[in-house]
Amino acid sequence: MEKLIITVACTGAMTTKENTPYLPTQPEEIAEEVRMAYECGATVAHVHVRTVEHKATMALDRFEQTVGLIRERVPDIIVNMTSSGGLGFGDEERILPHTVLKPDMGTFDAGSMNFYKGVFENSPTFLEKLGKAYIENGIKPEVEVFDAGMVWNAKRLLKDGFLQAPIHFQCCMHVHGGMEGTPRNLVHLVDSFPEKSTWSAFGCGPTADVIMAMAMTMGGHIRVGMEDNVYLSKGVLAEHNYQFVEKVVKLAEVFKRPIANVDEARQILSLPPRKK
Ligand code: ZN
Repeated sequence: MEKLIITVACTGAMTTKENTPYLPTQPEEIAEEVRMAYECGATVAHVHVRTVEHKATMALDRFEQTVGLIRERVPDIIVNMTSSGGLGFGDEERILPHTVLKPDMGTFDAGSMNFYKGVFENSPTFLEKLGKAYIENGIKPEVEVFDAGMVWNAKRLLKDGFLQAPIHFQCCMHVHGGMEGTPRNLVHLVDSFPEKSTWSAFGCGPTADVIMAMAMTMGGHIRVGMEDNVYLSKGVLAEHNYQFVEKVVKLAEVFKRPIANVDEARQILSLPPRKK
Protein backbone atom coordinates (compact mmCIF):
# COMPACT_ATOMS: atom_id res chain seq x y z
CA MET A 1 0.00 0.00 0.00
CA GLU A 2 1.01 3.59 -0.61
CA LYS A 3 2.91 5.39 2.13
CA LEU A 4 0.70 7.24 4.58
CA ILE A 5 0.40 11.02 4.71
CA ILE A 6 -0.63 12.35 8.12
CA THR A 7 -2.24 15.79 8.24
CA VAL A 8 -2.48 17.60 11.54
CA ALA A 9 -5.41 20.00 11.99
CA CYS A 10 -4.47 21.69 15.27
CA THR A 11 -7.12 24.36 15.70
CA GLY A 12 -10.03 24.56 13.23
CA ALA A 13 -12.83 27.08 13.44
CA MET A 14 -15.45 25.37 15.57
CA THR A 15 -13.55 23.89 18.52
CA THR A 16 -13.64 26.20 21.53
CA LYS A 17 -11.61 26.66 24.69
CA GLU A 18 -14.73 25.35 26.47
CA ASN A 19 -14.44 22.09 24.49
CA THR A 20 -10.79 21.80 25.50
CA PRO A 21 -8.52 24.20 27.34
CA TYR A 22 -5.59 22.73 25.37
CA LEU A 23 -6.75 24.17 22.02
CA PRO A 24 -3.91 26.20 20.45
CA THR A 25 -5.25 29.51 19.10
CA GLN A 26 -2.34 31.97 19.11
CA PRO A 27 0.34 31.99 16.38
CA GLU A 28 3.10 30.92 18.77
CA GLU A 29 0.99 28.07 20.21
CA ILE A 30 -0.12 26.81 16.80
CA ALA A 31 3.43 26.84 15.41
CA GLU A 32 4.68 24.88 18.41
CA GLU A 33 1.87 22.29 18.09
CA VAL A 34 2.71 21.89 14.39
CA ARG A 35 6.41 21.44 15.20
CA MET A 36 5.68 18.70 17.73
CA ALA A 37 3.27 16.94 15.35
CA TYR A 38 5.91 17.08 12.59
CA GLU A 39 8.48 15.46 14.91
CA CYS A 40 6.02 12.57 15.34
CA GLY A 41 5.33 12.05 11.63
CA ALA A 42 2.83 14.65 10.39
CA THR A 43 3.80 16.02 6.96
CA VAL A 44 0.89 18.39 6.29
CA ALA A 45 -0.29 21.18 8.60
CA HIS A 46 -3.89 22.26 7.98
CA VAL A 47 -3.94 25.80 9.35
CA HIS A 48 -6.76 27.93 10.76
CA VAL A 49 -6.17 31.14 12.67
CA ARG A 50 -7.93 32.85 15.56
CA THR A 51 -8.11 36.34 17.00
CA VAL A 52 -6.46 37.24 20.31
CA GLU A 53 -9.88 36.42 21.86
CA HIS A 54 -9.76 32.93 20.26
CA LYS A 55 -12.46 33.70 17.66
CA ALA A 56 -12.28 32.21 14.15
CA THR A 57 -11.02 34.72 11.60
CA MET A 58 -9.73 34.96 8.02
CA ALA A 59 -7.64 38.05 8.87
CA LEU A 60 -4.55 38.24 6.70
CA ASP A 61 -2.27 39.45 9.51
CA ARG A 62 -3.12 36.43 11.68
CA PHE A 63 -2.28 34.09 8.79
CA GLU A 64 0.94 36.01 8.18
CA GLN A 65 2.01 35.63 11.81
CA THR A 66 0.95 32.01 12.19
CA VAL A 67 2.20 30.68 8.86
CA GLY A 68 5.36 32.80 9.22
CA LEU A 69 6.18 31.10 12.53
CA ILE A 70 5.37 27.65 11.15
CA ARG A 71 7.67 28.22 8.17
CA GLU A 72 10.41 29.44 10.52
CA ARG A 73 10.19 26.46 12.88
CA VAL A 74 9.26 23.71 10.44
CA PRO A 75 10.40 24.89 7.02
CA ASP A 76 9.83 21.42 5.65
CA ILE A 77 6.16 20.86 6.42
CA ILE A 78 3.48 21.18 3.72
CA VAL A 79 1.26 24.13 4.63
CA ASN A 80 -2.44 23.71 3.86
CA MET A 81 -4.45 26.84 4.70
CA THR A 82 -8.20 26.89 5.19
CA SER A 83 -10.26 28.95 2.75
CA SER A 84 -13.41 28.84 4.87
CA GLY A 85 -12.19 29.91 8.30
CA GLY A 86 -15.60 29.03 9.73
CA LEU A 87 -19.04 30.15 8.59
CA GLY A 88 -20.09 33.46 7.12
CA PHE A 89 -16.86 35.00 5.81
CA GLY A 90 -17.01 36.90 2.51
CA ASP A 91 -15.66 35.48 -0.76
CA GLU A 92 -12.80 37.98 -1.08
CA GLU A 93 -11.57 37.69 2.52
CA ARG A 94 -11.56 33.90 2.12
CA ILE A 95 -9.31 34.07 -0.96
CA LEU A 96 -6.97 36.94 -0.02
CA PRO A 97 -4.64 35.13 2.47
CA HIS A 98 -3.96 32.51 -0.22
CA THR A 99 -3.03 34.90 -3.00
CA VAL A 100 -0.70 36.78 -0.62
CA LEU A 101 0.95 33.89 1.24
CA LYS A 102 0.80 31.23 -1.49
CA PRO A 103 0.72 28.14 0.74
CA ASP A 104 1.48 24.72 -0.76
CA MET A 105 -2.18 23.75 -0.46
CA GLY A 106 -5.53 25.32 0.29
CA THR A 107 -8.88 23.83 1.15
CA PHE A 108 -11.66 23.83 -1.42
CA ASP A 109 -15.07 23.03 0.07
CA ALA A 110 -16.89 21.59 -2.90
CA GLY A 111 -20.46 22.67 -2.12
CA SER A 112 -22.88 24.33 0.28
CA MET A 113 -24.58 22.60 3.18
CA ASN A 114 -26.12 23.05 6.59
CA PHE A 115 -23.30 22.91 9.12
CA TYR A 116 -24.89 21.92 12.42
CA LYS A 117 -27.09 24.98 13.11
CA GLY A 118 -25.43 27.26 10.56
CA VAL A 119 -25.18 27.38 6.79
CA PHE A 120 -21.87 26.73 5.05
CA GLU A 121 -21.93 28.66 1.79
CA ASN A 122 -19.71 27.74 -1.12
CA SER A 123 -21.53 29.06 -4.17
CA PRO A 124 -20.60 27.99 -7.69
CA THR A 125 -19.31 31.55 -8.32
CA PHE A 126 -17.09 31.39 -5.23
CA LEU A 127 -15.72 27.97 -6.12
CA GLU A 128 -14.88 29.07 -9.66
CA LYS A 129 -13.08 32.17 -8.31
CA LEU A 130 -11.20 30.13 -5.70
CA GLY A 131 -10.25 27.43 -8.22
CA LYS A 132 -8.89 30.04 -10.60
CA ALA A 133 -6.94 31.78 -7.81
CA TYR A 134 -5.36 28.45 -6.78
CA ILE A 135 -4.32 27.65 -10.35
CA GLU A 136 -2.85 31.13 -10.89
CA ASN A 137 -0.89 30.99 -7.63
CA GLY A 138 0.33 27.39 -7.89
CA ILE A 139 -1.68 26.26 -4.84
CA LYS A 140 -2.87 22.64 -4.78
CA PRO A 141 -6.51 22.41 -3.70
CA GLU A 142 -7.53 19.94 -1.06
CA VAL A 143 -11.10 19.25 -2.15
CA GLU A 144 -13.10 18.79 1.04
CA VAL A 145 -16.24 16.72 0.60
CA PHE A 146 -18.81 16.53 3.38
CA ASP A 147 -21.48 14.86 1.29
CA ALA A 148 -21.67 12.74 -1.87
CA GLY A 149 -23.05 15.55 -4.05
CA MET A 150 -19.85 17.50 -3.49
CA VAL A 151 -17.86 14.90 -5.40
CA TRP A 152 -20.12 15.51 -8.37
CA ASN A 153 -19.59 19.28 -8.02
CA ALA A 154 -15.84 18.67 -8.05
CA LYS A 155 -16.12 16.62 -11.24
CA ARG A 156 -18.01 19.47 -12.93
CA LEU A 157 -15.39 22.01 -11.80
CA LEU A 158 -12.65 19.69 -13.09
CA LYS A 159 -14.37 19.39 -16.47
CA ASP A 160 -14.75 23.19 -16.68
CA GLY A 161 -11.09 23.83 -15.82
CA PHE A 162 -11.46 25.26 -12.29
CA LEU A 163 -9.76 22.18 -10.78
CA GLN A 164 -6.89 20.16 -12.24
CA ALA A 165 -6.28 16.40 -12.16
CA PRO A 166 -5.25 14.53 -10.13
CA ILE A 167 -7.56 15.84 -7.42
CA HIS A 168 -6.72 15.37 -3.76
CA PHE A 169 -9.89 14.84 -1.70
CA GLN A 170 -10.44 15.19 2.04
CA CYS A 171 -13.44 13.16 3.24
CA CYS A 172 -14.88 15.24 6.08
CA MET A 173 -17.19 12.83 7.87
CA HIS A 174 -19.74 13.26 10.63
CA VAL A 175 -20.36 16.98 10.47
CA HIS A 176 -24.09 17.50 11.12
CA GLY A 177 -25.58 18.35 7.73
CA GLY A 178 -23.06 16.23 5.86
CA MET A 179 -22.51 12.47 5.79
CA GLU A 180 -22.46 10.41 8.95
CA GLY A 181 -19.07 8.90 9.71
CA THR A 182 -19.76 5.29 8.83
CA PRO A 183 -17.61 2.81 6.91
CA ARG A 184 -20.25 2.42 4.19
CA ASN A 185 -20.46 6.15 3.63
CA LEU A 186 -16.70 6.43 3.33
CA VAL A 187 -16.54 3.56 0.83
CA HIS A 188 -19.30 5.19 -1.22
CA LEU A 189 -17.46 8.53 -1.33
CA VAL A 190 -14.15 6.98 -2.32
CA ASP A 191 -15.80 4.84 -5.00
CA SER A 192 -17.12 7.97 -6.69
CA PHE A 193 -13.75 9.79 -7.01
CA PRO A 194 -12.29 10.29 -10.49
CA GLU A 195 -9.50 7.83 -11.37
CA LYS A 196 -6.00 8.65 -10.08
CA SER A 197 -7.36 10.89 -7.31
CA THR A 198 -5.64 10.76 -3.94
CA TRP A 199 -7.65 11.06 -0.75
CA SER A 200 -7.53 11.48 2.99
CA ALA A 201 -10.26 11.20 5.61
CA PHE A 202 -11.29 12.09 9.12
CA GLY A 203 -14.38 11.50 11.22
CA CYS A 204 -15.49 14.10 13.74
CA GLY A 205 -15.94 13.30 17.42
CA PRO A 206 -16.91 9.72 18.20
CA THR A 207 -16.31 8.51 14.63
CA ALA A 208 -12.64 9.55 14.54
CA ASP A 209 -11.20 6.09 15.24
CA VAL A 210 -13.51 4.19 12.87
CA ILE A 211 -12.76 6.50 9.95
CA MET A 212 -9.04 6.46 10.82
CA ALA A 213 -9.01 2.64 10.66
CA MET A 214 -10.98 2.61 7.39
CA ALA A 215 -8.68 5.11 5.68
CA MET A 216 -5.65 3.22 6.96
CA THR A 217 -6.79 -0.11 5.51
CA MET A 218 -8.30 1.28 2.28
CA GLY A 219 -5.06 3.02 1.29
CA GLY A 220 -6.23 6.57 2.01
CA HIS A 221 -4.42 9.19 4.03
CA ILE A 222 -5.41 10.47 7.47
CA ARG A 223 -6.12 13.79 9.14
CA VAL A 224 -6.16 14.15 12.92
CA GLY A 225 -6.22 16.97 15.43
CA MET A 226 -8.29 19.11 17.75
CA GLU A 227 -10.17 20.67 14.82
CA ASP A 228 -12.07 17.39 14.48
CA ASN A 229 -11.85 15.63 17.82
CA VAL A 230 -10.58 16.61 21.26
CA TYR A 231 -10.61 13.20 22.95
CA LEU A 232 -7.70 10.83 22.77
CA SER A 233 -9.86 8.07 24.23
CA LYS A 234 -13.23 8.03 25.98
CA GLY A 235 -13.32 10.99 28.38
CA VAL A 236 -9.59 11.72 28.03
CA LEU A 237 -8.74 15.06 26.43
CA ALA A 238 -5.61 15.26 24.31
CA GLU A 239 -3.21 17.81 25.74
CA HIS A 240 -1.32 18.16 22.48
CA ASN A 241 -2.11 17.46 18.85
CA TYR A 242 0.96 15.26 18.42
CA GLN A 243 -0.75 12.66 20.63
CA PHE A 244 -3.22 12.00 17.82
CA VAL A 245 -0.35 11.68 15.36
CA GLU A 246 1.29 9.12 17.66
CA LYS A 247 -1.95 7.16 17.64
CA VAL A 248 -1.98 7.04 13.83
CA VAL A 249 1.68 5.99 13.74
CA LYS A 250 0.97 3.09 16.13
CA LEU A 251 -1.98 1.91 14.03
CA ALA A 252 0.13 2.21 10.87
CA GLU A 253 2.63 -0.18 12.44
CA VAL A 254 -0.14 -2.73 13.02
CA PHE A 255 -1.23 -2.52 9.37
CA LYS A 256 2.33 -2.26 8.03
CA ARG A 257 1.72 1.08 6.40
CA PRO A 258 4.96 3.09 6.21
CA ILE A 259 4.68 6.79 7.03
CA ALA A 260 5.56 9.17 4.19
CA ASN A 261 8.25 11.76 4.80
CA VAL A 262 7.74 15.26 3.39
CA ASP A 263 9.42 14.56 0.04
CA GLU A 264 7.35 11.39 -0.40
CA ALA A 265 4.17 13.22 0.59
CA ARG A 266 4.94 15.89 -2.00
CA GLN A 267 5.36 13.25 -4.65
CA ILE A 268 2.11 11.46 -3.72
CA LEU A 269 0.22 14.78 -3.78
CA SER A 270 1.86 15.88 -7.08
CA LEU A 271 3.32 18.94 -5.38
CA PRO A 272 6.52 20.45 -6.75
CA PRO A 273 9.68 19.60 -4.77
CA ARG A 274 10.30 21.79 -1.76
CA LYS A 275 12.06 25.08 -2.47
CA LYS A 276 15.51 24.76 -0.88
ZN1 ZN B 1 -10.31 23.25 8.59
